[in-house]
Amino acid sequence: MNSFTPFQIGPFTCTPIDAGNIWLDGGAMFGVVPYTMWSKAIEHDDRLRIPMTMRCLLIESSETGHRYLIDNGIGTKYDAKRCDIYGIPFGQDPLMDSLAQAGVDPADITHMVFSHLHFDHCGGTTAWNADQTSLEHRFHNATFVVNQRHWEEANNPNARETASFLCDNIAPIGDSGKLLTIPDDHEFEPGFDVIVIDGHTIGQQLPRLTNGTRTMVYAADLFPTVHHVPVPWVMGYDMRPTVTLQEKARLCAESVKNDWIWFMEHDAHHTFMTLDKDERDRYIGIPLAASELPFHGGNND
Ligand SMILES: [Zn+2]
Repeated sequence: MNSFTPFQIGPFTCTPIDAGNIWLDGGAMFGVVPYTMWSKAIEHDDRLRIPMTMRCLLIESSETGHRYLIDNGIGTKYDAKRCDIYGIPFGQDPLMDSLAQAGVDPADITHMVFSHLHFDHCGGTTAWNADQTSLEHRFHNATFVVNQRHWEEANNPNARETASFLCDNIAPIGDSGKLLTIPDDHEFEPGFDVIVIDGHTIGQQLPRLTNGTRTMVYAADLFPTVHHVPVPWVMGYDMRPTVTLQEKARLCAESVKNDWIWFMEHDAHHTFMTLDKDERDRYIGIPLAASELPFHGGNND
């Protein structure tokens, strides 16, 4: 279990929350990039899977008192066989362990914000009850926040994306009576909005926080690892890879210009990165240690 130190962006106290590791097929993670190349960038196991993590983000606002949780991992609903496929430990609950470590009761979360509803981002919303007969919500006081266009997509997926949208995850969110679907230009509160992109899936939202000087963006599945910054390194999972290319070009340029920090949801080794260009004028990800964050001190707004 990683332990994380909170950092401060304006009125927002941010705490990384560890929802556990997951091992995913390296070929699928790097799309058209050949094995000979991606295997030099990142290690893999004997099943050709690369280590990933599911790093959520707790955002506590001193302005509104809201406690937002961004994504909640894959959850605990998988049986032993599926856990083995994804290399996740059966019978463990790292999300709840990590929240407890941060001193947060799930009932304290006011807004469960989903970057999108693929299974490794929203599986922690519910869990089976003791005798495995029904699903129980775990964030009893939370509003569930999903991009409007993404909610429509998740409920009417194309044949290729169907496997990523699991009914056990999505139906309870729809049935909760607490679903809030938001437009692309939604602002949660001053200093906290979202960037919405469509290449990976329609209506993926990347939470963005600013203290007026520096900005941090939650990378979600735009940059699953620091190795996904170069333009052709696009996941095979992306529904619209050519749209991802355009989105990466636009956001890389904006990021370099404004010196954004990226919070990495899936990179097993790096929690933060910045972007830069290499000697051949290509965008690259530069890992950033927590000690190098410009947000230290808790009073930098
Ligand atoms: Zn995804």
